[in-house]
Amino acid sequence: MSRRDARARAVELMDRVRIPGAAQRVRDYPHQFSGGMRQRIMIAMALALEPALIIADEPTTALDVTVQAQVMDLLAELRREYRMGLILITHDLGVVADVADRIAVMYAGRIVESAPVHDLYKAPAHPYTRGLLDSVPRLDQKGQQLYAIKGLPPNLTRIPSGCSFHPRCPLARDVCRTDEPPLHAVSGSRRSACHFWRECLDG
Ligand code: SF4
Repeated sequence: MSRRDARARAVELMDRVRIPGAAQRVRDYPHQFSGGMRQRIMIAMALALEPALIIADEPTTALDVTVQAQVMDLLAELRREYRMGLILITHDLGVVADVADRIAVMYAGRIVESAPVHDLYKAPAHPYTRGLLDSVPRLDQKGQQLYAIKGLPPNLTRIPSGCSFHPRCPLARDVCRTDEPPLHAVSGSRRSACHFWRECLDG
């Protein structure tokens, strides 16, 4: 590809991710763009390879809420348009609700729950997922203390025996300290690595 063609392609991709004045800005340096624009340019660079799948690791970290929503809308739109897969890695369950079809929740390096997005939000089948959802600030709880899962994530070189979440789990019992729970089939394609997933599901 000639330099002229490469530049035209870069302008086209910058346009596609809605960088205003792409033709004038194509030679700008990263520090001349805002955080949101830099994120869009990263997405444009990924699109240049015409991927079948994009893995976006914390794509909205350090962006304000409005720009977060714009970046997520853009990713969802591009996913549909390019018919590609999208794996989002995030610690923020609020960010993925409108974009993801499925969620896999990981704890200590292992998937502890996976489910279609609406099922998981409606009724989590693992205490860690429930704790994460309860930790999301809500407008109807204004003035109240925010919920936090007790304790700290484990040291990955010394993962607790049995269920790795047991030192922090409000439902933990003796069996949780000794027996690692397998991924139980909850329903359809839904899975939970909790001995007491039924109890968790019932709230
Ligand atoms: S297996 Fe036990 S400790 Fe682990 S999440 Fe379920 S109830 Fe909690």
